Amino acid sequence: MPLSPEQLAEIEALRASPQPTLRAVAPGMEKHLYTAQEVLDHGFVRVVDYMGDDAAICQAARVSYGKGTKSVQNDKGLIRYLMRHWHSTPFEMCEVKLHVKLPVFVARQWIRHRTANVNEYSARYSILDREFYIPAPEHLAAQSVINNQGRGETLTGDEAARVLEILKSDANRAYDNYEAMMSDEGQQGLARELARMNLPSNIYTQWYWKVDLHNLFHFLRLRADSHAQYEIRVYADAIAKVVADWVPAAFGAFEDYRMGGANLSAQALDVIRRRLKGEEVTQETSGMAAREWREFVDMIEG
Ligand SMILES: Cc1cc2nc3c(=O)[nH]c(=O)nc-3n(C[C@H](O)[C@H](O)[C@H](O)COP(=O)(O)OP(=O)(O)OC[C@H]3O[C@@H](n4cnc5c(N)ncnc54)[C@H](O)[C@@H]3O)c2cc1C
Repeated sequence: MPLSPEQLAEIEALRASPQPTLRAVAPGMEKHLYTAQEVLDHGFVRVVDYMGDDAAICQAARVSYGKGTKSVQNDKGLIRYLMRHWHSTPFEMCEVKLHVKLPVFVARQWIRHRTANVNEYSARYSILDREFYIPAPEHLAAQSVINNQGRGETLTGDEAARVLEILKSDANRAYDNYEAMMSDEGQQGLARELARMNLPSNIYTQWYWKVDLHNLFHFLRLRADSHAQYEIRVYADAIAKVVADWVPAAFGAFEDYRMGGANLSAQALDVIRRRLKGEEVTQETSGMAAREWREFVDMIEG
C-alpha cells in the first residue's frame, strides 16, 4: 500500500481547503495537486506544488508585463517555435515539486539528473519501512542477448518461482536483521545510520524532487524512452501524464520535437537527400558504421 490511511486523510484535508491566489493556476494541474499516482508495487508520485503554466512560458519569452497571451493559438505557435529552436530558458520559468517514493536502485539512476533539487528521507534519523520492490512476474526477465544494458525474454516456470522466492526471502531476512541489530532490548542497539547498510537496493526510499520544466523534459526524454529501465520508465510515464495536463501546449511540442522527433547527423541528412533524388544508398555507400546504419534505417522506416 503506497499511502497509509493517515496520509490519505492528510491529502484529503489539503484538497478540501483551497486558498484564493493571484498566481497563475493551471486547471489541469490542480486536479493532480497532492494526489498520489501509484507506481510499481509500493511507490508513488504526487505533485506537492507547481509554478507557471503554458502562458507563463510565453510571458517569459515576450518578457511581458501582463498576462502576455495574445491568443491560445498564438501561444501554441510560439511554444512550438521555442521548442524547435532550443530556446529553452522560457521553459525554465515553470517548476514542479514532486513527492516520490521509489526503490533505492531506481533512485540511483534518478539522482544522476543533477539539475533538480532533492531532499531525501533520512535513514540515519528514521527507520525505513519493510517495503521492497518485487517485480511482477511479467517483468522478471532474462539478460538480453542483444543489449548488454537490458533485459530479454520473461522468466517462466521453476526459474521464475525460484527467483521471486530469493528476492522475497533475502529482503525479509535483511529487514529482520536490520530490526534485530537496531533493537535496544538487552543490547545497546546499532545506530540506524549503520544498520541500513545491510539492506538491499530494492528497499523503498522517498524524496521531494523539484525541477524546472526544461530539465524535466530532459529527464522525460531520457527516462520515458524505451531504452530506459522499466522501473524508472514507469515513474517517467506517470510524470509525463501529469505534465500533459499541466502545460498541454508545451507538452505537445515536447512530444512532437523531442519524444517523437529525431536528431539527424549531417551524414544521415545527406543519405535522405540522396535517396530523395532517386539514388540507391546502402550502408557501404552511406559512410556510416553498421550499427549507426541500422539505427538510422530503424528511425526512418519506423
Ligand atoms: C539509457 C541510459 C543509460 C545510462 N547508462 C549509464 C551508465 O552506464 N553509467 C553511468 O554512469 N550513467 C549512465 N546513464 C546516466 C547518464 O549518463 C546521465 O548521467 C543521466 O542521464 C543524466 O543526464 P544529464 O547529465 O544530461 O542530466 P542533468 O544532470 O540533469 O544535466 C542536464 C544537462 O545539464 C548540463 N550539466 C549538468 N551538470 C553539468 C556539469 N557538471 N558539467 C557540465 N554540464 C552539466 C549538461 O548539458 C546536461 O546534459 C544512463 C542514462 C540513460 C538514460
